[in-house]
Amino acid sequence: MSSFGIRSLNRRSFLHAGGCTAAAALMSSSRLYADFNGLVDNMMREAKTAKVNVIPLGSNLFVIENTGGNITVLDGPDGKLMVDAGISGSHPQIIAALAGISANPLKEVISTHWHFDHTGGNPWLHEAGARITAHQNTKSHMVVAKAVTPWKYTFPPTPAPGLPTRLLNADTTFSMNGMHINVTHPKDAHTDGDLVVAFKEGNVIATADTFWNGYYPFIDREAGGTIDGMIRATKANLAMAIESTKIVPGHGPIATKPELQEYHDMLVSIRSSVMKLKISGATVEQAVAAKPTANFDAKWGHYAVNPDDFVRLVYNSGS
Ligand SMILES: [Zn+2]
Repeated sequence: MSSFGIRSLNRRSFLHAGGCTAAAALMSSSRLYADFNGLVDNMMREAKTAKVNVIPLGSNLFVIENTGGNITVLDGPDGKLMVDAGISGSHPQIIAALAGISANPLKEVISTHWHFDHTGGNPWLHEAGARITAHQNTKSHMVVAKAVTPWKYTFPPTPAPGLPTRLLNADTTFSMNGMHINVTHPKDAHTDGDLVVAFKEGNVIATADTFWNGYYPFIDREAGGTIDGMIRATKANLAMAIESTKIVPGHGPIATKPELQEYHDMLVSIRSSVMKLKISGATVEQAVAAKPTANFDAKWGHYAVNPDDFVRLVYNSGS
């Protein structure tokens, strides 16, 4: 609905919510998330005391920020649907945030991929009554001990209550609370199990970790992620969006289509530079030393994925 277009949101409150959060994220990024060392432990520890923000998007849609990946919530008489579950340690803040939205019960959780900052809350959300939906590849990563080598971390299998019970292997559309919800699976992007969730009447797209707004994104190569898939997913996200669409990234503030376009152009440019080096015979560390991201680092290089690590991710996942 155009009346809920992002530019028609109260501009001051939008800037306050998005701007301050982005600034806070940048401050904490330089303190905690400047690279992959200790990343998971730091995020898990910080989640316990994180101050969670709830941003209304109109049409009974909300974003819960600052508990790992962004959480999109659809509220209404059919019950609440959540896109992602945050980090397990933020569970008291998420309960309070959900209660602050309404007393409607929690019914559905869509896990956009297997990472801890998106599925950590699954076990308690299941106990609270939610059914969990995910791509079948996401479940396959959750049932085993799964390493993310760049993070120097191996995650234990997810306890059974946190596993998805409704598995998708194809795009699907369903209705809830009067909203048409379109779930698509971009192939081999951030992982091989990503889901993107579009709320038609709400004019909102939750891109999950195919989009980090303002930051170089992580690409989980060991779980099937590729730079080419990230670019394809971003093209598909752009094709779904119109000028007024509110785009909820996996990380970073809520975005507009021009910001998603800028992210796309950044990915394409860096992929091209890194693959030229790779094809010319440069080793991965020679590619890093050539600083192919230099023109982008001031804007994109200040969160969990630093410029050198992003070059490694692109080099190793590009073909
Ligand atoms: Zn992720």
